[in-house]
Amino acid sequence: GPLIEARAISRSYGRTPALREASVSVRPKEILAIMGPSGSGKSTLLHCLAGIFTPDAGEVWFDGRRLDTLKDAERSELRRTAFGFVFQFGQLVPELTAADNVALPLLLGRVRRRQAYRRALSWLERLELGELRDRRTGELSGGQAQRVAIARALVMEPKIIFADEPTGALDSLTGEKVMDLLVGQARQEGATVIVVTHDARVAASADREVVVRDGRVTDPYAIGVSR
Ligand code: ADP
Ligand code: ADP
Repeated sequence: GPLIEARAISRSYGRTPALREASVSVRPKEILAIMGPSGSGKSTLLHCLAGIFTPDAGEVWFDGRRLDTLKDAERSELRRTAFGFVFQFGQLVPELTAADNVALPLLLGRVRRRQAYRRALSWLERLELGELRDRRTGELSGGQAQRVAIARALVMEPKIIFADEPTGALDSLTGEKVMDLLVGQARQEGATVIVVTHDARVAASADREVVVRDGRVTDPYAIGVSR
């Protein structure tokens, strides 16, 4: 069965409907791209799947459990342990080094210091960042910072990585490299990836893509829907 699923979820911001009975189902280890025009509801869908927002109606299921009705504490725990996040900006602590940023979620999860830094460094190396371990992330380029963010998401060995425009602030060549590293490492780890993107090349490295239009999810290959 699916690893994560939205069943007819709706959500509004005040009177603005952002999702209208949107449904999507993602298999274990699948790399899914969510595309669609700006304002169509992609981010809202991703946030509902990730348990950051609660839908007004409909259901979200993760690993056979109802996610949207979990108690806040349980949902936070699930997010911390089973979900990884890569956003466009702002997820790193710029004053801390690359190694500190990657070790941080482990330290917060009470992994001992030496072990946390050992795992952090091994992930930095996998993302070709070993030499930058002691640099503050505020001094890194956009592409380097996104690779640190990916290392930080993967270090917790999440079941799912949620990525919202992870290459949106990068030039296309850097973006492609960042996406290749994200997808390649996720595949090696057997992690599922759900990535919101405007970039057709990012979507091309996914296993499947869906398109969000006016708050609904459509299959881009369905008859009558142009790509
Ligand atoms: P996308 O990610 O496809 O750009 P969003 O999910 O961000 O779409 O937004 C869907 C709709 O909801 C848009 O009309 C947007 O303006 C609106 N919206 C998103 N976030 C908010 C918010 N915090 N407050 C009010 N309206 C919002
Ligand atoms: P994205 O397309 O990645 O959602 P946006 O620039 O649309 O990026 O949104 C950035 C932030 O602004 C998000 O937190 C979103 O919820 C919020 N936002 C988007 N649209 C609106 C809106 N119409 N009113 C208030 N907040 C909004």
